[in-house]
Amino acid sequence: MAKGIRSIRGFSDILPDQTPLWQHVEATIRGTLEAYGYREIRLPIVEKTELFSRSIGEVTDIVEKEMYTFDDRNGDSLTLRPEGTAGCVRAGIQNGLFHGAQPRLWYAGPMFRHERPQKGRYRQFHQIGAEVYGETGPGVDAEMILMTARLLKRLGLEDVRLELNTLGTAEARAAHREALVAYLQAEEGRLDEDAKRRLHTNPLRILDTKNPEMQDLVEAAPRLMDYMDDASREHFEAVCSVLDQAGISYRINPRLVRGLDYYSRTVFEWITDRLGAQGTVLAGGRYDTLVEQVGGKATPAVGFALGLERLVSLLEESGGAGRANDPHCFVVSTDSLKALPLVEALRDRLPALRLQMQTDGGSFRSQFKRADRSGAGVALVLGDEELAGRRFGVKDLRGQAEQQALALDELEEYLARRWPELAATEVVD
Ligand code: ATP
Ligand code: MG
Repeated sequence: MAKGIRSIRGFSDILPDQTPLWQHVEATIRGTLEAYGYREIRLPIVEKTELFSRSIGEVTDIVEKEMYTFDDRNGDSLTLRPEGTAGCVRAGIQNGLFHGAQPRLWYAGPMFRHERPQKGRYRQFHQIGAEVYGETGPGVDAEMILMTARLLKRLGLEDVRLELNTLGTAEARAAHREALVAYLQAEEGRLDEDAKRRLHTNPLRILDTKNPEMQDLVEAAPRLMDYMDDASREHFEAVCSVLDQAGISYRINPRLVRGLDYYSRTVFEWITDRLGAQGTVLAGGRYDTLVEQVGGKATPAVGFALGLERLVSLLEESGGAGRANDPHCFVVSTDSLKALPLVEALRDRLPALRLQMQTDGGSFRSQFKRADRSGAGVALVLGDEELAGRRFGVKDLRGQAEQQALALDELEEYLARRWPELAATEVVD
């Protein structure tokens, strides 16, 4: 047999055993975002390369070495989106979403970065992100952080901690940068290759190094906080004060700088120790100059993105399995063609019923085996006799009760008693 084609390194299939947990996580997040007034926007996966170099920053890891960039058949340089904010800002400008409105938007989908694949770090991964445009004050920063806290709590993740910092204004960063470069230059011998390269292009990013041998060096480096302008300092204090009043604990981490250039003022991350070096599950902050940078009218913005792979694996690790969506019923029949109309009549009555059947028959024995494996609670038996009498044989697969024969009305009642959520008239997910 010819060698099978396998997926690309760093690109994964999310298999049917895993999708229930994914769906649970996605639905919980969506519910939380909508409760705070965010509306979904769906964006293209491919954008012009220039959009990302202009917004994320030329000398960031992403733009320097992680983008999937290619020329299309017209010779235009295109890029698979490495993150969602740039596209969101582009779409907002292009569609006039920011004019006189303060939109709250969320998006979800795959992102692509050519990184070294390892646990929690893939080349295709999935993010859900949210953004608010047009609000300048610290209130929206605080509200967004509170929302992310609620989101993680709803998912049952207690084991994550919040880190905060402020990056101040461009002027504050420039003054700090000068001091930082002087400090690092004096210690040039201790810098790794990456840091040497960054020294004159993007020294702030050196503080974000993951190299353990440079930790002491960056620990003692000049702190941006000491160069902060008063307005940024007040803004940050106001955010912290709301969190204090709401009883959210956090740590101010002066080295939290984020990997993208567009941030200003508040930045925050939710981090876990359970996923090794890939511990950041959700990250965000304010980016007041980005809209203008991409070509729109100056519009302040705050946003965050979370990594679904990391959240899902954290839930798996902590045993917080997702809501099962095993079928309620499994139909065992002698003639699926005759059984189908009856089954459809049952579905009409209970729209939320999860029901599965094996249409190509097989022995009762093998169908019962499959019913059991499906996780269904009840087998609905439609043998010749039941089909002729339009009754369902009902066998509890999880208890000892005798099989009973029920007409459609009685079956509807029985199932709604057993699974009260089925009685709701609307389909709930
Ligand atoms: P890291 O420091 O871990 O590389 P980042 O700063 O590059 O993260 P962001 O661009 O802020 O990450 O993306 C937000 C979130 O998306 C991250 O906190 C993480 O949960 C997730 N994420 C980022 N890159 C990857 C990846 N390659 N694989 C899986 N998840 C990722
Ligand atoms: Mg990264």
